[in-house]
Amino acid sequence: MYENPILVANYQYSLEYAKQQDQLDELSQYRNSFHIPKDNKGNDLIYLTGNSLGLQPKVTKSYINQELEDWANLGVDGHTKAKNPWLHYHESLTENTAKIVGAKPIEVVTMNSLTANLHFMMASFYKPTKTRYKIVIESDAFPSDKYAVESQLRHHGYSPNDGLILWKPRKGEELLRHEDLETILQQQGDSIALILIGGVNYYTGQFFDLKRISTLGHHYGCKVGFDCAHGAGNVDLKLHDSGADFAVWCTYKYLNSGPGSLSGCFVHERHAYNKNLNRFAGWWSHNKDTRFNMRQDFNVLPGAEGWQLSNPPILSMAAIKASLAIFNDVGIAKIIEKSKKLTGYFEFLLTQLGNDTIKIITPKHPNERGCQLSIQVLRADKTLHHKLTKAGVISDWREPDVIRCAPVPLYNSFQDVYNAVERLRTILNS
Ligand SMILES: *Cc1c(COP(=O)(O)O)cnc(C)c1O
Repeated sequence: MYENPILVANYQYSLEYAKQQDQLDELSQYRNSFHIPKDNKGNDLIYLTGNSLGLQPKVTKSYINQELEDWANLGVDGHTKAKNPWLHYHESLTENTAKIVGAKPIEVVTMNSLTANLHFMMASFYKPTKTRYKIVIESDAFPSDKYAVESQLRHHGYSPNDGLILWKPRKGEELLRHEDLETILQQQGDSIALILIGGVNYYTGQFFDLKRISTLGHHYGCKVGFDCAHGAGNVDLKLHDSGADFAVWCTYKYLNSGPGSLSGCFVHERHAYNKNLNRFAGWWSHNKDTRFNMRQDFNVLPGAEGWQLSNPPILSMAAIKASLAIFNDVGIAKIIEKSKKLTGYFEFLLTQLGNDTIKIITPKHPNERGCQLSIQVLRADKTLHHKLTKAGVISDWREPDVIRCAPVPLYNSFQDVYNAVERLRTILNS
C-alpha cells in the first residue's frame, strides 16, 4: 500500500482516537465560529460540502448589519462617512486576500462574479491571431469554464472543434499527467494562445503544479491562467511565484462568504503597469483621485484594481471581510497543515473499509490535493449518495459516478470524518 510521505502513520480506526485528535487540534475551537446546519432533530449534520458552499461564520451577520445600519443612517453619505467608507471598502479585503492566495496586494482585487471575471481576463489575455488562437483546458473542466472558453473562441471567429484542445487523462486513468500537457505543447504550442486550467480540479480534487504549467506555457509563448475556485482557501496557491498571467476564484466555496458572493481576481505584477493591455473598462478601473470629476479621459489604475468595472456590492463584501478576518486570525499555513492531517485521516478510514464498491480517485500525495476526496462508486450507484444524505452526511454527487466529500479544516472535526465513514460502513454492509 502507498505510504503517505508526510503523514503520521499511526492513524487509528476508532472514535477514541478521533476524539483525541480533536483535543490535540489547535484549530478545533474555530468550529464554534460557524453555524453548523442541523437535522430535524437538532443534531449537527456532518457537513462535507464546503467545497460547494462554505458555512456561515457567526460574525458575518454583524459585519453585514454594520453596513445596513450605516446605509439606514447615512444614505449616500455612507460612501465617505460609513464606519468603513464604501468608496474604499474593497481595499480592506486586499491584504488578507493576497495572503491566502500567495500574491502581492497589487496583484489581487475582489470584483464581479467568477465566470464574468474569466471573460474579463480573457478580454486581456486571450488575444488570438490567425496562427495562434487555440485554448487548452482540462478535459473535465468545470462546465462554466468550458462554456466560457468556447464562447470566447466563437466570439473571435474560431470554432471550438478546432480551437479547443482538451488535456485528457489516459485510458483507464482519472488524473491528468503533466507529461501529456507537455506533449500537447510540443505538438501544437505555436498555435496555442491560452492555457486555462482549474488549479484544483472540481471533480477529481487534483491540485496541479501551477508553476510548472505556467513555465511550460510561457516557454511556448502562451498566456496561462488558472481558475482557483477550488483552490482559494484550500491549498497553497503561491500565485505570484507560479508566474501565471492571471487567476480567478469565487469566495463562496472555501472562503465562506455566502451564496453567489463576489469573485477574487489575480493579475501578475508584471502586467500591473501595462496600460496597453486591452481591457474592458468602467469607472471603477479609473484613477481614484479623478474618478468623481466624471469628465476625465480614462486613466487606468495600476494592478488588478485596474480591471474593476462597477462600484461593488458592499453587503456581499462585508461577508467576505468577516470571513477573511477568520483566515487572517488562523493563518492559511495552519489551515493547510490541519487539512492535510484531516483529509489524510479520512483517506485512511476509507481505505480501512476495504470495500471495492468505492475507490478514491483523488491523488494520494497531500501536495497534489486539497481537502476534497472524490469517491468513485462502482456501477455509478447513486443510491449510496442518497443513503449517506439520509444518514446525515452531506456530500455531493457529481455525474457520472463520484461522491465528493470535503472535510474543511476550519469547521470539520476528526470526529466528523470518523462518524461519516462509520455511517458509510453501515450502509455498505447492509
Ligand atoms: C464553482 C465554480 C464555478 C462557478 O462559477 P460562478 O460564475 O461563480 O457561478 C466556475 N468554475 C469553477 C472551476 C468552479 O469551481
